[in-house]
Amino acid sequence: MRPIIIAANWKMNTTPSDAGPLAAAIAAVTDAPDVERVICPPYVCLAPVRDALAGTGVDVGAQNVHVRDAGAYTGEISAAMLAGLASWCIVGHSERRRDMGETDELIGRKVARCLESGLRPIWCVGEQLEDREAGRAEAVVREQVRLALVAGGLAGGAWAHTIVIAYEPVWAIGTGRTASGSDAAAMADAIRAALEANGWTHEQAQAVPVLYGGSVTASTIAEFLSEPCIDGALVGGASLKPDEMAGIVARAATTAAARRSAALR
Ligand code: PEP
Repeated sequence: MRPIIIAANWKMNTTPSDAGPLAAAIAAVTDAPDVERVICPPYVCLAPVRDALAGTGVDVGAQNVHVRDAGAYTGEISAAMLAGLASWCIVGHSERRRDMGETDELIGRKVARCLESGLRPIWCVGEQLEDREAGRAEAVVREQVRLALVAGGLAGGAWAHTIVIAYEPVWAIGTGRTASGSDAAAMADAIRAALEANGWTHEQAQAVPVLYGGSVTASTIAEFLSEPCIDGALVGGASLKPDEMAGIVARAATTAAARRSAALR
């Protein structure tokens, strides 16, 4: 059975003084042992968020990592620097693809770097609106998966229980528009098929959690979690609001319980 994961991407929001209290408030209203919860604040807020979350069961994630361990890379942060601060890391978010020119090849190397360093990558993929309108959304995402797997040397599938993939249609991020549950489910199937087409076994591909991301709120999460091939959400804007997170995680806990009892039958 795959875990249910709700990951919060705070993007470039919060400061070292307000991030800890916000993380603590979210942890307090999302207590659900069957749901893996992760909060990804900006780098400078990692330490206060880690301290605020101690003993709550909520993990901490970074929003990016460099492929190298150290050197002349001004402004960058390596996996080694994240040790003790974060156990997860978002990789390849569409805002970094858009603003920093991150390519699938670089993203594949970052995913590999996370895995070598003991960080669980939340690897983001997703199509642009024009790709969906032209009927090539699945082909675009399958190619994103292939390019990153090749560049990262991840074709063997040995990381099936560590990698998490977030399907985030770019046109749904921060726009208030969401994909339909059935389109997101079809993409989750396409992502797992792409893993299989690139050297993973069926069992390995099926073991990878696939999250949906794109304007998820407490009112929209149910549509995605009612799809058996979707295993949670990467939440941006709504993740800064404890009430929204409470609703999202409560729905995730219901899904986790239902899937657990179905698996035991
Ligand atoms: C995200 O940042 O990954 C995201 C999905 O943002 P939002 O929920 O605001 O669309």
